[in-house]
Amino acid sequence: MNRSSLSTGMQVPVFAGGGKINFGEKPVPNPGDGQLLIQVKANALCGSERGQFYEGTETTPGHEAAGVVVANGSNTQTPLGTPGVIFLMDFCGTCRSCKLGFTQQCLAKRADMGFNQDGGYGPYEVVHENIFFPVDAGMPLAEATLLLDVMGTSGHALQRAKLIRPDIESVIVAGAGPIGLGVLAMSRILLGEEIPVLVTDFVDYRLKLAERLGGLPIDLKQHSFVEGLRRHGFTSVDVAFDTSGKTAARRACLDVLAQRGVLVCVGHGEGLDLTVSQDLIAPERAILGSEYFPYRDLSMNLGYLRQHRAYLSQIITHRFPIQEIQAAFEFFFSGNTGKVIVEQ
Ligand SMILES: [Zn+2]
Ligand SMILES: [Zn+2]
Repeated sequence: MNRSSLSTGMQVPVFAGGGKINFGEKPVPNPGDGQLLIQVKANALCGSERGQFYEGTETTPGHEAAGVVVANGSNTQTPLGTPGVIFLMDFCGTCRSCKLGFTQQCLAKRADMGFNQDGGYGPYEVVHENIFFPVDAGMPLAEATLLLDVMGTSGHALQRAKLIRPDIESVIVAGAGPIGLGVLAMSRILLGEEIPVLVTDFVDYRLKLAERLGGLPIDLKQHSFVEGLRRHGFTSVDVAFDTSGKTAARRACLDVLAQRGVLVCVGHGEGLDLTVSQDLIAPERAILGSEYFPYRDLSMNLGYLRQHRAYLSQIITHRFPIQEIQAAFEFFFSGNTGKVIVEQ
């Protein structure tokens, strides 16, 4: 397909604010120098879009997109028809962070796709070629979106923990939303199925899904972290991941961390109250942040996705056509889902 065969206008969801999504028209964007035009096939919903959903935005959201190259700007090589996923951060590729491969810490990023530049809920999205990651021709594109927040962000958080704590024998994950389920799944894949992963949440649906994925559920409606651990035969854990962003969850994670334990904060949100001597110095614990993931992790994670596709795709629990994006968001924010995808 060449550029001239594409129509000039496209219907895009407009996040009007107040939890309302309408449809409006935008021109199909033109790929400039070094850019590709992607026809989006699937985009996963994300908890980080709550602000856009309730407050509204001019930008077309969507930062977990998968699609197919349908037009090339100058100085690009990716063949038309190549399927792939889009990395959130439009990294520069030349700053100190990027040169070392820490593209999630780019010092001169051009955009966060779907936040300050139009993203994947529109039918077409323009991206710089360096943030497009090609996948296998036969891979369903809804499942390819797992490479992004679910596998990428979670896998990176695990690697952050392993920097401090290579001998992980037990894990707790606070929050069984999509990132929490991702940490659970990536722990099973990267650490081995023999390493127990405890997962806390308040929502029955998510706890059941966590259990199906091999996690040990702790229902916070019934038990505290400490009681929940005890019921599964533990008194402490080596590594904790907070995906909830809640002060109480982070504090509860610290309270069950073993000596030399690591708390990795993956979910943005509230703060954390610390008593440095007791919480950090004496037990030699570490607290780390983990933000998205380096672009280079995509190729490693593609290998894991090929190998564990049936297992990982259980995290995707609902799919909606793009016309029903309003219902998709309402359902997703009800809590009774895993990952929700809109397709077009
Ligand atoms: Zn996301
Ligand atoms: Zn950079």
